[in-house]
Amino acid sequence: MPTEHENYCNGEWVASESGETFAVTNPADETDVVGRLQYSTESDTTWAIEAAADAQDEWAAVPGPERGRILRDAGSIAADRKDELTETLVREEGKTRSEASGEVQRAIDILFYYAEKARDHGGDVKPSSSSSGEIRTKTEPVGVAGLITPWNYPIAIPAWKLAPALATGNTAVVKPASEAPISAKKLIECLDEAGLPPGVVNFVTGSGSTVGGALATHDAVDVVSFTGSSGTGDIVYQDAADDQKRVQLEMGGKNPTVVMPSADVDDAVDIVGSGAFGTTGQSCTACSRAIVHEAVRDEFLTGIVAYAENLDVGPGLDDPGMGPHVSEGELESTLDYVEIAQNEGATLETGGSTLDGGVFDGGHYVEPTVFADVESDMRIAQEEVFGPVLSVLTVGDFEEAVAVANDTKYGLSASIVSENANEIDAFVDEVDAGVVKVNEKTTGLELHVPFGGMKASSNELYREQGDAGLEFYTTTKTVYRNR
Ligand code: ADP
Repeated sequence: MPTEHENYCNGEWVASESGETFAVTNPADETDVVGRLQYSTESDTTWAIEAAADAQDEWAAVPGPERGRILRDAGSIAADRKDELTETLVREEGKTRSEASGEVQRAIDILFYYAEKARDHGGDVKPSSSSSGEIRTKTEPVGVAGLITPWNYPIAIPAWKLAPALATGNTAVVKPASEAPISAKKLIECLDEAGLPPGVVNFVTGSGSTVGGALATHDAVDVVSFTGSSGTGDIVYQDAADDQKRVQLEMGGKNPTVVMPSADVDDAVDIVGSGAFGTTGQSCTACSRAIVHEAVRDEFLTGIVAYAENLDVGPGLDDPGMGPHVSEGELESTLDYVEIAQNEGATLETGGSTLDGGVFDGGHYVEPTVFADVESDMRIAQEEVFGPVLSVLTVGDFEEAVAVANDTKYGLSASIVSENANEIDAFVDEVDAGVVKVNEKTTGLELHVPFGGMKASSNELYREQGDAGLEFYTTTKTVYRNR
């Protein structure tokens, strides 16, 4: 019997009032049921929101160092459970063991990082224009945070939303994606075991529109952080706008890597290949467009096709080069784009088919795929695929490369491979992306610096991670004091 996982509300593990659960299956083998989760109702969610609201004043009054102590203990507990958390993540999401282990470590590091931030997050003292006056700023939590998270980083993203929210004295309700909710549930277990007071964190699983919708609309939720698709982000934004909640949206990308003639082409192939096919292309920062100067186009194309063909694909637990898609639906969507690209006139250089039989039976496997002769106005160059599909576009000069890089509604991550300092500086200035990488892949983030997109990749009001993560969950009072 697969384990049944309950919601966490007001410090208790509880079943949904619906009496219904849903199955989470292994992307590498659909017959492997990893667990069953609560199919929660709107009133389950309301109960969790009310628990968070009731706990908020008391949690805000806990001194920062003590809030940090609990985050640090939760990080230590997660570190002790790292192997188990890694295996859970692989089994529910499908990524490779190395990728999952790196992600779990990231979640641990985030807990430790914000544990220290909780210690010294506060206000400043400023001079006053009056000799008898003093001005100081006092930071306060915004209130109750509704955290709506996606399946592709099922422990790191909940951690990078929760840890700064808690460090700054907010309480929270977490709604994980139904494809991979168990990693987030185990993160909550670590916080519970570390001694978080009841109600400070609550965890509710179920349908996006019911549970996520309740978080976005309930008037006791003050701040909403969402990561997911652009379509859902738009709905969340509109729902939350009704009572003017503070909202952060991180959504899709169509991330380019520009390869210039001065590049070491072998390096460029590694940078693009790892950015495109890592996490099975299921990162919002994945490289989906290689924009290659015509002088190195043929050499690059030969290299990237070989990279794709040499990648061993298999079950994540075996730690191959690339794991399966998270679900049948995501696999179907990738296959649709393979067909769309071919109908548009792009040349399929390698991949594009499912992998079946033997170890692939029951899994959602697709070959790493490379298209050449892609034009910027094709759908394959404009729309987010969210799979291991790379489009190679050829350009004649640097200006054209930047124009093509910017020719999309998205603006999340962008990189350039070049040895030309002027070109690099111009790229940093001109590319429309919230994350810019030089001689590095588009994926991979550090936790202590801001992360977020431009254009349709984000609502651009707030960044996540680093100090920006604290700001999002904080409001400021300015205190003028005379004598
Ligand atoms: P995906 O990550 O598969 O592209 P979504 O963007 O729909 O899909 O999902 C991101 C998160 O948003 C998930 O936790 C999902 O359950 C949640 N969600 C889906 N629909 C809604 C909605 N209408 N309101 C709030 N949250 C939603």
